[in-house]
Amino acid sequence: MTTLLTTELSELDKKHFIHPTSSIAQQQAEGPSHIFTEGKGVYLTDTNGHKVIDGMSSLWNVNIGHGVKEMAEAAYEQMSKLAFTSNFSTFSNEPAIRLAEKLSKILPGDLNAVFFTSGGSESNDTAFKLARHYWILKDQPERQKIISRKMSYHGVAMGATSATGLKPFRDFTNANAPHFHYVNSSVEEFRTLVEKEGPETIAAFIAEIVQGAGGVNLPPEGYFKEIRKICDEYGILMIIDEVITGFGRTGKYFAIEHEEIQPDMLCFAKGVTSGYAQLGGVALNDRLHNDFKTLSKGTLLHGYTYSGHPVACNVALKNIEIIERNGLIENAKKMGEELYKGLKYLEEKHEIVTNARGFGLLGGIDIVKDSQSGERFAEYLSPLIVKEAAKLGLILRTVTYDHDSIVFSPPLIINKAEVEQMVNILDQAISNVKREVL
Ligand code: PLP
Repeated sequence: MTTLLTTELSELDKKHFIHPTSSIAQQQAEGPSHIFTEGKGVYLTDTNGHKVIDGMSSLWNVNIGHGVKEMAEAAYEQMSKLAFTSNFSTFSNEPAIRLAEKLSKILPGDLNAVFFTSGGSESNDTAFKLARHYWILKDQPERQKIISRKMSYHGVAMGATSATGLKPFRDFTNANAPHFHYVNSSVEEFRTLVEKEGPETIAAFIAEIVQGAGGVNLPPEGYFKEIRKICDEYGILMIIDEVITGFGRTGKYFAIEHEEIQPDMLCFAKGVTSGYAQLGGVALNDRLHNDFKTLSKGTLLHGYTYSGHPVACNVALKNIEIIERNGLIENAKKMGEELYKGLKYLEEKHEIVTNARGFGLLGGIDIVKDSQSGERFAEYLSPLIVKEAAKLGLILRTVTYDHDSIVFSPPLIINKAEVEQMVNILDQAISNVKREVL
């Protein structure tokens, strides 16, 4: 049932609100599909009183689930005491210092120093600028190039867009930042590109361990170990983008821990606050940090007004405390296995479902016309299935750049009954769409 409030807000939305990553034509024709008003645990409720499971943790970020009062209290407490102060130059604040220290303990290896930002895109832009500046300090200013993987998503700031391997994001404008190169997830292709471009011109390589927005694409076995070797051989910095995978999503604190290698920089955002405040950052290993300490002269001319925002940092500290106290990383591992079983069940039951995959609480399935040949339907089916699932009470997301996929990223607090509920709804949605369209 559509309420008066929904009608009023929909009209205002169409008139005044330009949505991120959206179709303006669709918005003008249909208005918002949900205007959410409340969240509790894995559930969201909209202005029509429709309650749905947030199968994506909203934007892969609400790891501890919705409606956690302690988080509001952490924000209130810090806002009441000191809402904001500068961290530029010699100024500092306690939550930022405490969070930086806490991160140094939970991040793998010697990633012991952090530069804070307000989100993932800013974190990746920061990593590129720090990498390039680093090479200037090291007297190798010709090292400017950044290599990323095709199908990657690194955000929408100018550097982050330019690094993003999903081409439609780069084609949105007709000019991106220079010196970005893209490779498939193949060790050989990486080596070939490095040697062709000249290792002495390459500043850094960036990758997500599991590509999220590109379709929950898992890394080929042993891939990152080999890439790390090539980076070491040629002095290329390795940046790992853990904006989605950080803070327990994959069943370990950070996804890089599955790979048993160390990056030079690690970018994070989203799960650091579970979306309760805007925060991101780049962690540097000791080697880089020490080089910056000894070689840097004058001012490090890079900083955001909200780098190290005291409220966001206090909220992050509470978020990490909750993740640890409630064993959410272990739960992500266990519930990830349940989710994967459910996706496998759907693959067996529906001939149009293939390539069920999971990595902790990240999952994906592909929709195909013929699972033998992998041939896709002429019209993508995943948007219809996802729309049907939303009607039935489950929010999911499609990936239709190069596949016809549905992806999953529920809150890390999810329990077995809720995973089963997700799988049952999806099962029903697939059956309904098959009946209507095929
Ligand atoms: N990196 C990855 C892997 C992401 O998934 C995202 C966002 O989805 C970003 C970077 C960009 O983060 P933000 O949207 O906070 O700028």
